[in-house]
Amino acid sequence: MVRRFCVMGDSEDVWSDISDSEFLSIQLDEIDEPCVSGAQSHGNEEPCAGRSPETSPQKAARAALKQIWSRSPLKRRRVSLYSMNPLEYFRRRHLSVTLLCEQSWCEVKVVCGLLRPLDKKAEMARPEVKMGAEIHLKKALEVHEEVPILVLSREDDEAVRALNVMQKIVTLETGMCVREFPVFGVLEGVFVMGFIDELSYDERGQLVLSELKTRRQMSIPRPAQIKRDGLQVRLYMLLFNGMISGSVSKSDITDHLGLQAGRALGTDVLNHARAMGVQADTFGTLLEVMLRRLALSNVRPPAHLRLQYCHQGSGDPIGTEDVPFEEPALRAELQGYLAYWTGNREARGVDIEDAWKCQSCHYQASCEWKKNNFPTAHSHEKP
Ligand code: SF4
Repeated sequence: MVRRFCVMGDSEDVWSDISDSEFLSIQLDEIDEPCVSGAQSHGNEEPCAGRSPETSPQKAARAALKQIWSRSPLKRRRVSLYSMNPLEYFRRRHLSVTLLCEQSWCEVKVVCGLLRPLDKKAEMARPEVKMGAEIHLKKALEVHEEVPILVLSREDDEAVRALNVMQKIVTLETGMCVREFPVFGVLEGVFVMGFIDELSYDERGQLVLSELKTRRQMSIPRPAQIKRDGLQVRLYMLLFNGMISGSVSKSDITDHLGLQAGRALGTDVLNHARAMGVQADTFGTLLEVMLRRLALSNVRPPAHLRLQYCHQGSGDPIGTEDVPFEEPALRAELQGYLAYWTGNREARGVDIEDAWKCQSCHYQASCEWKKNNFPTAHSHEKP
């Protein structure tokens, strides 16, 4: 497993995502200060999906909001949020699988975390989150050797991911287990990426896609959490199947992520690629090799999706959950989430029957959704 260390001026990691949904959401590109002007902040920023046409009442409402909220710096940020879609406002070239899973838990919570990055950072610095991350890294290093590579550009950074994909596909073809497999692709018009926790073969030789979840309690989580975790492996499956079926193109990657196909690879990346037998001098050529390699692979789509829960303290297994996969239903669900990011609707908080989620929410004291929708909700049975 190659692991890059970075000397770039631009530290944005466009592939950022790891498999533990708690740890992994503390990514640099998620906590960037959002752009507060209407102009794009990056010269090579990928144009985002368009906002739906506005009606006259919507325009009038926006004008009124601007008048009311333009008196303080904090409120000016809210004005900007209303003047572009969330992908543009938060300068997102892509969405991560873990972010979409957080969104399925509570959309308003995701937005609060993006608008208040220091709060989000504090939330993610909890000991149990760090412990979960350490367990994942330890497990990844059980099957992969870590090789540091110096990257000098964003293209180098992504080239390292491409090399990891090629290396891990070869390992899968030999019937062995891989961990932290990078997945990516365009889903419903938006570039989505993540890292599959584990791909391995069962006793019948069928490929199993698994996600490890660590828990403080020695018990299987409640259905709402299993549903969120299930979405994670279902999205990984959709992305992985797209990659091995050849439906990802070079321009999907370069256009959506704002990368230059003609950029020469840095020396360290180049040397590592050659050591792997990959002949490519530019980022674009390397992508072509990777995509061809994926399309020619004999690896079949996973036969099973599995969630594995284990105890954080002891490492003891708690239990497993098998997750069904139905592509049309998943795509319909995904369209619902993406409608927020492409500006087709406002963010929604939890429904009243899920108000119990607010009890452990970092943002409950200031959450306007909670105040407006169930101000007197104090205790609700968790389903
Ligand atoms: S308090 Fe409730 S509605 Fe508000 S962000 Fe938290 S979970 Fe969502």
